[in-house]
Amino acid sequence: MEENKLDREPRSRAPDCIKCIHFKITWETSFPRSCALFGIKCRNLPSVEVFRATGQHCPSFQQKESIK
Ligand code: SF4
Repeated sequence: MEENKLDREPRSRAPDCIKCIHFKITWETSFPRSCALFGIKCRNLPSVEVFRATGQHCPSFQQKESIK
């Protein structure tokens, strides 16, 4: 797999989870978005929750092959 250059650099904004291989849609209408890597289910994008919890943008974004 081609390495994403951005994975090594501090991010200036939250990554777009929808383009990430770890992003999943759930069946839970209250928490329809999830991150399989961090085990987060939420209404917002998981990367927003990561930022709220850690104060840093998610460093684990991996772009889906279908988007590359
Ligand atoms: S790893 Fe990061 S960018 Fe990918 S879905 Fe999870 S929170 Fe979003």
